[in-house]
Amino acid sequence: MPSAASQFNTDATRTVADLGQREMVQRSLSGYQKARSSNADRFQDWESARGRAAAIKDEAISQLDQYLIQFEEKLVARGVKVFWANDSVEARGYILDLARTKQAKSIVKSKTMVSEEIHLNEALEEAGFHVVESDLGEFIVQLRHEPPYHIVFPAMHLTRGQISDLFQQKLGTQPTADPEELTMTARKALRQEYLSADIGITGANFAVAETGMISITENEGNARLTCALPKTHVVLLGIEKVVPRLADLSLLLPMLATAGTGQQITCYNSLIGGPRSADELDGPEEMHVVLLDNSRTRLLADAEQRDSLRCIRCGACLNVCPIFRNVGGHAYGTTYQGPIGSVITPHLRGLQSWQHLSQASSLCGACTETCPVKIDLHHHLLQNRRNAVAEKGSLFQRLGFKAFALVVNRPGWFGVATRAMKFFAPLQRIFNATPADPVWPWTKSRELPSFARRSFRDLWKERTP
Ligand code: SF4
Repeated sequence: MPSAASQFNTDATRTVADLGQREMVQRSLSGYQKARSSNADRFQDWESARGRAAAIKDEAISQLDQYLIQFEEKLVARGVKVFWANDSVEARGYILDLARTKQAKSIVKSKTMVSEEIHLNEALEEAGFHVVESDLGEFIVQLRHEPPYHIVFPAMHLTRGQISDLFQQKLGTQPTADPEELTMTARKALRQEYLSADIGITGANFAVAETGMISITENEGNARLTCALPKTHVVLLGIEKVVPRLADLSLLLPMLATAGTGQQITCYNSLIGGPRSADELDGPEEMHVVLLDNSRTRLLADAEQRDSLRCIRCGACLNVCPIFRNVGGHAYGTTYQGPIGSVITPHLRGLQSWQHLSQASSLCGACTETCPVKIDLHHHLLQNRRNAVAEKGSLFQRLGFKAFALVVNRPGWFGVATRAMKFFAPLQRIFNATPADPVWPWTKSRELPSFARRSFRDLWKERTP
């Protein structure tokens, strides 16, 4: 089996050459960019809003132990069963046991990236349960037996024609390029699934400690049906989703909508606090909340990168990332793609196996600039690179970086080195080599920039009287 790094290289190289897919991604994102800029303008002060959102999430993360307990107590008081899962095995085990106890046959899900993270669908299907994704994009990728392409837009890489072909093949419909007709086809197929499902599984966008409620934001109404129609509702969420107060949502919900989809606010925003009470007609008879750690506390212990737990999974950093836009979502081979995925996956799945994702960055900083909760993404990529070399770098890497640090920290040595580089200019011809050359794996997709004839220091000296 190829390593994650070599699989990434293979898949990324293939997507880069797939002009159709790249055009589809660019087209989807250009609409997003336009909508986002016009709606960010509706915030009185977008920068202050980012600062406030970051502060709210920091407050929650720094007192996670207290806020999670408060959240749990409120839920338990309303009859909700809360399960703390250390890892994906425990989370899957709890949900599988529950499904068996309930003698469930059919399970309907609304979009939850945490369930992708713990590979819940595979486990449920292996155990013989019928599982259906109810979010349109997730429904499409499930029919194709593919993981989501993007945190927010799971099927953004597909054309209407491809979706029409898929529906024709799997659902027996007539070909059409009309998006409304395609949506109605999925809707019709899904309605029956809601009615026959024994269990509904959702994620949560936020978990409000003050009131013990989960907040779900969506555009299709499928999450509401998933919560309300089956007799049992299971909520699966990462522990970092907690926020202190209900009032915090007045900022976080519009911010998530603007950064995530370019909307002012999403169509449906639900707050769910428990199963149906005696005087209510609708809702599930039972509600379970699974709080997942899965290495999040390890990230919490890392003072340098703890801020990545602020992430509200809006996907904005993917949308602006030149690497994501060209290699696409599937090449990453992870649940969370793009810059945030490259930062947190080494923490969730092992630094040495996943540090290559931190190399897949131009370090342009567009991700950090766009992140609504001000996560210092591009610096975290650098830290992952540094940590990987410190932990298990080759002798060549260690000596190379030591020598580099020695030179750049001494202005005199640096001056000599830059002057000496001019004499090495002819070597560029060697580095821009042929397939027979040993440096070809590096140079086949890169060219060394030309050395400047005069350095910045020389130019500066000339300007200074
Ligand atoms: S890191 Fe920031 S921009 Fe990226 S998904 Fe998370 S909140 Fe959104």
